[in-house]
Amino acid sequence: MLPLELLGAPEGSCLVHACLDVEQLTVHLAITAPTAACPVCGSDARRVRSRYTRRLEDLPCLGRRVRLRIAVRRFVCPRSDCPRRIFAERLPGFAAPRTRTTDRLRQTQTDIGSSLGGEAGSRLATRLAIPTSPDTLLRRVKQLKDKPAGPLRVVGIDDWAWRKGQCYGTIVVDLERSDVIDLLPDRDADTVAVWLKAHPGVEMVSRDRSAAYAQAATEGAPQAGQVADRWHLLKNLREAVEHVLERHSAAINAALKALEAPPGPDRDATAPQTDAAVPTAEPLPPEPPVEPVPESPRLQAKRAKRRQLAERFDRVHELHKRGYPAARIARELGLSRRSVFRYLQRETCPAWHLRGSQRSRLDGYREWIDARIAEGFINVAALHRQLTERGFKGSYGGVYAFVRKRLGAAGKKRERLNAATPPVPRPPSARQLSFEWVRRPEKRKPPEQARLDAIRGCSVELAETLDLADGFANLIRKQSTGTLSAWLTRGEVSPDPALRRFAEGIRSDEASVQAAVAQKWSNGPVEGHVNRLKTIKRQMYGRAGFVLLRARVLNAA
Ligand SMILES: [Zn+2]
Repeated sequence: MLPLELLGAPEGSCLVHACLDVEQLTVHLAITAPTAACPVCGSDARRVRSRYTRRLEDLPCLGRRVRLRIAVRRFVCPRSDCPRRIFAERLPGFAAPRTRTTDRLRQTQTDIGSSLGGEAGSRLATRLAIPTSPDTLLRRVKQLKDKPAGPLRVVGIDDWAWRKGQCYGTIVVDLERSDVIDLLPDRDADTVAVWLKAHPGVEMVSRDRSAAYAQAATEGAPQAGQVADRWHLLKNLREAVEHVLERHSAAINAALKALEAPPGPDRDATAPQTDAAVPTAEPLPPEPPVEPVPESPRLQAKRAKRRQLAERFDRVHELHKRGYPAARIARELGLSRRSVFRYLQRETCPAWHLRGSQRSRLDGYREWIDARIAEGFINVAALHRQLTERGFKGSYGGVYAFVRKRLGAAGKKRERLNAATPPVPRPPSARQLSFEWVRRPEKRKPPEQARLDAIRGCSVELAETLDLADGFANLIRKQSTGTLSAWLTRGEVSPDPALRRFAEGIRSDEASVQAAVAQKWSNGPVEGHVNRLKTIKRQMYGRAGFVLLRARVLNAA
């Protein structure tokens, strides 16, 4: 039958009987060791007082659920002074006292719970023939002890959002091993400082540029150096450049417009439009007869109502002329006296604007215009010119509105009315341009590089300011031989206020920025772990408490 080694049975046990059915394997075992050690005093006991069957769930076997039935003995402790007189024999390394699962099943449940959480983990466990409730899996995860951390020298700290914009926590990462060390429930300077004080071995703290973390690192780890995160430095620099570009936006937009306009025909708005795209071979339409347009039922009803009103108005005035008092007119016509007075105050029937009732002078040209639209020729200016040649007396605006309506009827987009003269695309915003600028030069696309070159050509001051910003970016990317202090000296007297403010901010945090320039540490791995944390958090639909989230982030495989 089953070899005991394959079963991994506890030490000193023997197989009594195994029972296999479709869904499960039940294995009966007995412990045969002659003695058992008292758990309190450690003396070997031989005197068996009673026996009972211990039931344990184990790892599955070939897709079947495995249940163990172990005959366990109760011994009497031989020492008379031992407080424990009777004890059950233990299964060390196999199952903890008083549990109903083996250690190895418990470990598997913990792994499933840390990786998948409660609900998903429970579904997987059922498929693996170790059915477990979601609560059990989460309990296993919460019971996990923190891994013993090795010597901690370089930590990266950053915040992560419980609820974005409202509530934040802090993540601490060992940058040497790229491993999450701890999760803190908030991002207050005090909390982080207390944590750092409890870890006096820390020699370097990498952090973003927030004042709270700077203060926490100074208070909690005065022995440690600080590194400002390079990504955040570049982000701050990009924001400064955005302000610079905003200040020069008029000149930049003009330069970019000139850059975007293709060479060749003059595209100035005031110049007459060329008819190059007009299909001249197309014969002009013959003078079209103005055919009546059938009215919609709604319009007919409106017109009838208006006729009724006009008749009533005339009748009121007629009776009034005959000398009828208002009260009698009201009675005769079934109106209120107020309406009668209102009618009598007016000399003519009030105009009633029938919306949509106007016929267009273009109705007769409708088919011809539809045909042009079907051909894709929707240059309104050219259409208007051709119609005018045929004696159409309406305005350009009228044609524009009519073509728009017909475009809508044809199910086409109404935006691109003048397809022959597509509008010059709007120049990118200062924000977009600042992102193009902050991209590494080797990663910029040719149009982006052309735009940046055009911007530099706008003015000497702008070119100098951007050069200065480039200098800082190169320092941070370690692509420059210059020094931070030399850059700061130049930056602080920059004619541009935004860049000057940026330089002043760097000066106030100079030591950590210098460390960012000189050292290899950065918060990149921390950002990666924050992303992992977000995935775990969302897997639990945002319902996890701090303890569970922390356990999963620290232990998920
Ligand atoms: Zn004892």
